Parts: sequence; C-alpha cells; structure tokens
Amino acid sequence: MAKARLCSRQTCTREAVYTLTYAYSESTAVVGPLSNVREPHAYDLCEFHASRLTAPQGWDVVRVGGAPKAEAGEEHQSQMSQPAYPRLRSVD
Ligand SMILES: [Zn+2]
Repeated sequence: MAKARLCSRQTCTREAVYTLTYAYSESTAVVGPLSNVREPHAYDLCEFHASRLTAPQGWDVVRVGGAPKAEAGEEHQSQMSQPAYPRLRSVD
C-alpha cells in the first residue's frame, strides 16, 4: 500500500485529501480531489487547510469535486435530518 500523502503545510501532519493547483494564467486557485500524480505547482492539502484556503488578492478560489466550502454548511444539514439533542435548561 502506498504511504499516505500528507498536507503540504509545513507544520501540519494531517493526511492530504485535496490537491490545490494554481492556474496562473487565470489567477485562480483550484481545490479538487487529491490528484494521483504529483504535479508542479500543485500542493496537497488536508481537509482543514483546504477549507481554510484563501486566495491571494485578486485571485479566485474554485472548489471542485466535493472540496469543502469555506462556509460550514454541514451542521445545518445534520440538524435537519436528525432530532436535536435535548436542550440544556437555561440557568437564570
Ligand atoms: Zn493541513
């Protein structure tokens, strides 16, 4: 089995699950599923860093293939499909 690739951020030891590619000609940073082949100008990112990614000024970030969005929408979704936990009583 191939060794898991790790996030390319220096201090990060998480497993990479996305690949960031810079399309210089279009001033666009593209975040997509982990690529099979390492490419020049491509950076592997863990889920955390992929979701935190911000583009340099004047650049766009495009997320494809199920890459995480900057906004957290998952919590909202799980609340709709599952009963909420019993509410804690407010302490006045
Ligand atoms: Zn990371």
